Amino acid sequence: MEYLNRQLRTFKRQRDFNFRPKCARMNITHLGFTDDLLLFCRGNFVSVQMLYNCFQIFSQASGLVANADKSSIYFGGVCKDDQNAILQALGFTKGELPFRYLGIPLSTKRTNVLQYKPLLDKILNKITSWTFSFLSYAGRLQFIKFVLFSIQIFWSQVFVLPKKVVQLIESLCKRFLWTCSVDMSRKALIAWERLCYPKAAGGLGLLDVHAWNAAAICKLLWNLCKKKDKLWVQWVHIYYVKGRRVWDSQANQASWVIRKILKAKLIFEKVGILEQDVYQMDSFSIKKLYCKIRGDCPKVEWRRLICSNHGAPRWTFILYLAIYKRLLTKDRVAQLISVDSLVCPLCNDRNESADHVFFSCQYSSAIWDKLLQWQGINRVSGEWKNEVDWAVKNSKGRSTGAIIYRMTLACGVYCIWHERNLRLFQQRSRPASALIRQVIQEVHYMLRLQRKLEELSFIPKEGE
Ligand SMILES: [Zn+2]
Repeated sequence: MEYLNRQLRTFKRQRDFNFRPKCARMNITHLGFTDDLLLFCRGNFVSVQMLYNCFQIFSQASGLVANADKSSIYFGGVCKDDQNAILQALGFTKGELPFRYLGIPLSTKRTNVLQYKPLLDKILNKITSWTFSFLSYAGRLQFIKFVLFSIQIFWSQVFVLPKKVVQLIESLCKRFLWTCSVDMSRKALIAWERLCYPKAAGGLGLLDVHAWNAAAICKLLWNLCKKKDKLWVQWVHIYYVKGRRVWDSQANQASWVIRKILKAKLIFEKVGILEQDVYQMDSFSIKKLYCKIRGDCPKVEWRRLICSNHGAPRWTFILYLAIYKRLLTKDRVAQLISVDSLVCPLCNDRNESADHVFFSCQYSSAIWDKLLQWQGINRVSGEWKNEVDWAVKNSKGRSTGAIIYRMTLACGVYCIWHERNLRLFQQRSRPASALIRQVIQEVHYMLRLQRKLEELSFIPKEGE
């Protein structure tokens, strides 16, 4: 490639060659990354031919040949006759914008939803595949984190995602989390905004794509202000900023991406960061600004029950919903539709509610009393609120007792909820003693597994 670079650099001395508009001042003739190559020049026959000949010489010398099926010529402001002459002489097909370069749609106009169809289809295909219909809440949550993470590190870093696309992705993720499908037949149990809070603030730490995107655009503006050594930064300075202050540049003639980057000063100002502050920043953390844009999220008292819980994700997810009282207990369902019976399927005695089902219920309290005894805690089970308060106060820290308590609480709540569903939907039931054994076994197994993993997690020294 260095050979091609050298050859193309000689073009600035050749009078017959015309640079593409807005490329001459920087002598830009090409952009390349691995085996993707873009060549630019003015749309006249002589310049195109010169560029083509140069590439041919490089091809013969290096053996790297352009794949005619994957190569196209893109025109802008070139008359039909000239276009035809160039196409005929070179034998390539005519390409239309937008096209994808390194997987990203390139366009002169604002990108629309249609151009993101491959990304949306990819998510949709995964969600509708049969293997995914067996995932638990925790499994689905993991998948959503993966989708949002890949958007964060790939799409958002490179360029600006349209608002509509962000909304579509979020709504796909939302539906998948709560209904395991693409249709919204059920109300979300917890608002998406809440799920995007950090875990310590009662969320699940999901990515707020809007805020991340805004922070990522701000980084681009910071690059411009600091005149970073990047081709695009120099290019914007030469053609649009033209020695003025970046903060004051409007660039009405520029493409929407450049205008959007320049407008990011409003995002900075909204969170109280002024022009001089941006110039004084020696480094830029998208994450820090993201937190500022999202705003302060007060911590919740029960955070350690979820954040520092070594239990299985499926346990902590159910505990999380239970703490918010969002599990669909009969009293909640009755507010939405008519229900045949409100009686608790565990004790067949009282009515079922979030407060009743886990500790007040005769069946559950028998389980919890035994589990407390197993842990050597000398007290009997109380009401739901008291139990959560007790756990918040007494299971802090990293002592083995506290770790086991948090795990047992999550596993107990999960198993009781599972048993309740088995009774309600599959007419199967197990005695309390079976659940007690199950919880103890699962906590044992999980702790043994973690201890084993800790033993394995060493980093081999170099040369070993
Ligand atoms: Zn009951």
